[in-house]
Amino acid sequence: MAAPESEACVTTTMEKCDVVILGAGPYGLAAATHLKNVPGLALRIFGEPMSFWERNMPLGMFLRSNWTATQIADPHLALTLEAYGQQSGSTVSQPVPLDRFVQYGHWYQQKGVPDLERRAIRRVEHDSNGFRITLSDGELLGSRRVVVAAGIGSFAWRPPEFDDLPAELASHTSEHRDLGKFTGKKVLVVGGGQSALESAALLHEGGAAAEVIARTHKIHWLQGSLSRTLHHGLGESVRSILYAPTDVGPAGISRLMARPDWLRRLPRSLQDKLRKRAVRPAGARWLVDRLKSVPVRLGCSVTSVATSGPRVTVRLSDGSERTVDHVLLGTGYRVNVAKYDFLSAELGQSIRRSGGYPCLEQGLETSVRGLHILGAPAAWSFGPLMQFVSGARYAAQALTRHVVANK
Ligand SMILES: Cc1cc2nc3c(=O)[nH]c(=O)nc-3n(C[C@H](O)[C@H](O)[C@H](O)COP(=O)(O)OP(=O)(O)OC[C@H]3O[C@@H](n4cnc5c(N)ncnc54)[C@H](O)[C@@H]3O)c2cc1C
Repeated sequence: MAAPESEACVTTTMEKCDVVILGAGPYGLAAATHLKNVPGLALRIFGEPMSFWERNMPLGMFLRSNWTATQIADPHLALTLEAYGQQSGSTVSQPVPLDRFVQYGHWYQQKGVPDLERRAIRRVEHDSNGFRITLSDGELLGSRRVVVAAGIGSFAWRPPEFDDLPAELASHTSEHRDLGKFTGKKVLVVGGGQSALESAALLHEGGAAAEVIARTHKIHWLQGSLSRTLHHGLGESVRSILYAPTDVGPAGISRLMARPDWLRRLPRSLQDKLRKRAVRPAGARWLVDRLKSVPVRLGCSVTSVATSGPRVTVRLSDGSERTVDHVLLGTGYRVNVAKYDFLSAELGQSIRRSGGYPCLEQGLETSVRGLHILGAPAAWSFGPLMQFVSGARYAAQALTRHVVANK
């Protein structure tokens, strides 16, 4: 069927490039600095730099990942946290505070990707030459490849029990930048991972009456005494045998997680087991003292919720109930790439998936040739390293190798 006249006209005037990157968080930025080294490659990158970190994480947060795992990868090893600290005239403390990491990300972008375009991509569609991209201002662009590095913001998981509650009564942790708005309020925090626990600490410190409830029977604290001994007590050489600088997973497993190409060769059931073990919900050790005065109820879940006037009453599986001003859902994220609203329905459905994750091949390419997905959605195919900043080096290098080999 012939294209409508207006479309044919637009197509002939549409600017073309080789690669478009969608997203300017750690993965998109790292992909850009690596691809810029490919001679003659026409590359464009779109997005608000570090926007998820800046808008969807709480003020006062610290990064859980360690120093080496908090570097945004660049091919020349020049855009490091150390270099940023030196150039900004103040060293970055550890654990790394959120606001310093955001500033570091902006510095990285200005140094390494100054041509970033701060426009959103509204639509990505497949066409006979590759992809047709519509920008937020209506501009059209053609590209042979598209690299999606859009993060997990679209996948915030809200348990269905809370579906009917308005945002004033129940919200996901990712909806807040400033938890100070809950000062003087009673807040029930649901979840037993870092995000729930750190939010509870910040709420408590900000003058809210916080309580945590979690299904888990035990909170896993990172860097327990065994882990501390293996990390620090037996010397650098033992530590480096057991833990990779990417710092994902416990002793030994950490080394395997740092090698996605090896992990991919293992049977699927073993990959799934290792992935679960490597990133189970856990809290950073430095939260223990901060949560001393916060009640934590473990081994129970929410059975029902109901509004009671301006408040909400939550029934728990142990038979008790709480009436609070707000429920904060630290219930994490569930990847489902069909929820990326910038992918056309046809494109979203063409991607071969497993439980919402795209099944990726070499170069983090989806089953749609030329469409790549980086970051957390790549975890089913390349392991849990992809859920963390430290996985951006592997992703950017693998992508670049693939682009060069298929130019
Ligand atoms: C509370 C919390 C704490 C965390 N702490 C750590 C930690 O300590 N260490 C760690 O390694 N990881 C941590 N993570 C995980 C972290 O989110 C990822 O490691 C990291 O953000 C992945 O980077 P990314 O580039 O894939 O995605 P993001 O950083 O989310 O970046 C997504 C980018 O896509 C852009 N974008 C989205 N849609 C469009 C569009 N339509 N058009 C153009 N651009 C678009 C956004 O503007 C943004 O620039 C944490 C996550 C959470 C929720």
